[in-house]
Amino acid sequence: MLAPLPPAAIPPEDEALRAEVKAFIAEHVMPMPAHRRARSWMGHDAAFSRAMGRQGWLGFSIPKRYGGAERSHFARFVVVEELLAAGAPVAAHWITDRQSGPLILRYGTEAQRQFYLPPICRGDIFFCIGMSEPNSGSDLASVRTRAQATDGGGFVLNGRKIWTSNAPHCQYMIALVRTSGVPEDRHKGLSQVIIDLSLPGVQIRPIRDLSGDEHFAEVSFDNVQLGADALIGQEGAGWEQVNAELAFERSGPERILSSMVLVDLWIDLLRSRATVSTDDAVLVGRLVAHLATLRALSLAVTAQLQLGESPVVEAALVKDLGTEFEQMIPVAVANALASDPDGTSAASPELLKTLAYTSRMAPSFSLRGGTREILRGMIARGIGLR
Ligand SMILES: Cc1cc2nc3c(=O)[nH]c(=O)nc-3n(C[C@H](O)[C@H](O)[C@H](O)COP(=O)(O)OP(=O)(O)OC[C@H]3O[C@@H](n4cnc5c(N)ncnc54)[C@H](O)[C@@H]3O)c2cc1C
Repeated sequence: MLAPLPPAAIPPEDEALRAEVKAFIAEHVMPMPAHRRARSWMGHDAAFSRAMGRQGWLGFSIPKRYGGAERSHFARFVVVEELLAAGAPVAAHWITDRQSGPLILRYGTEAQRQFYLPPICRGDIFFCIGMSEPNSGSDLASVRTRAQATDGGGFVLNGRKIWTSNAPHCQYMIALVRTSGVPEDRHKGLSQVIIDLSLPGVQIRPIRDLSGDEHFAEVSFDNVQLGADALIGQEGAGWEQVNAELAFERSGPERILSSMVLVDLWIDLLRSRATVSTDDAVLVGRLVAHLATLRALSLAVTAQLQLGESPVVEAALVKDLGTEFEQMIPVAVANALASDPDGTSAASPELLKTLAYTSRMAPSFSLRGGTREILRGMIARGIGLR
């Protein structure tokens, strides 16, 4: 069985950040229209990310000598929770701050740390993740993109990545590639490389999603020449490194809060009325109960990260339950409005636009970062069933 996750609380010195973050959000985020805020970690705004860097709110786990905040995972939790609940446009720095920076700190050489970490913490450079390929999504170990070692110590890269979030706006990708053997070797022979996306032979083709946005892309590599310093961590250890990275990716409050701008708008509508129907009150209670429980779970995983653990299975639990909650919200709000005699006429155009956007995006909540079925398989394995 899984060991019980002890409940965790945010230490007072980290909780103290909240007031400052709320003030920043009131100035920089709340003036944006709600349907734009609903995009949040799909919303790209490099100037906003640089403003975050100036506040010292990027690179929480990065030591000060590399320009980071050198603070706890709980401090990051406070900042991220406030930003996402308000719908701040964090896409530009999102993956870099959450995964690429910590990965470079953990596995990078001293030269790589000195080169990449300071501009990451300023919000000057952005990374994307190249894991999925046209025929390798859930079955990530079958990736075919290959970095072939050259006599000069570098690599020649050929292959294709897909669904790469923000690739058109990023300077670098950290990709999982095969450096030896064949796809049938599965976990053996995989490595991670840092790819400068401005190199000759790199092509980025944006892909439009259901809502009309182009936040992800297909990236192809045609004989791209990489130096020896492109390798991050150990050659052949890519699978273990990627799994450690996924614990950062799956556990945070972003797996709980994707529909929160919509909830807030709907509650504002209820507040504007003289009375609230029993059905609406029951739904509000249900949403709050789910949110409070999921938040406690996410905080417990944050405590594990703070202890230096790699809570892969626990993070999968948060993502599975959290995305179910996020997906339930647009359906529940649409039903509440439909069954309310004044609902749709009283709803503001902004509420309806936000509902439309969140409804179109909701299916992706349980796909990005690993699908529901894959996570449930990991949880079953975590309790010794597979
Ligand atoms: C918004 C968004 C952003 C993304 N950003 C990135 C990114 O930045 N970088 C990146 O690398 N990828 C990214 N992805 C890709 C994402 O990680 C993959 O879509 C996901 O891992 C699923 O892979 P796939 O699309 O190939 O589907 P498949 O793996 O083909 O799965 C199709 C369906 O079959 C199910 N299935 C597959 N295998 C099994 C099994 N063994 N048992 C039971 N069911 C199974 C899956 O659960 C799914 O429902 C993004 C995806 C989305 C939606």
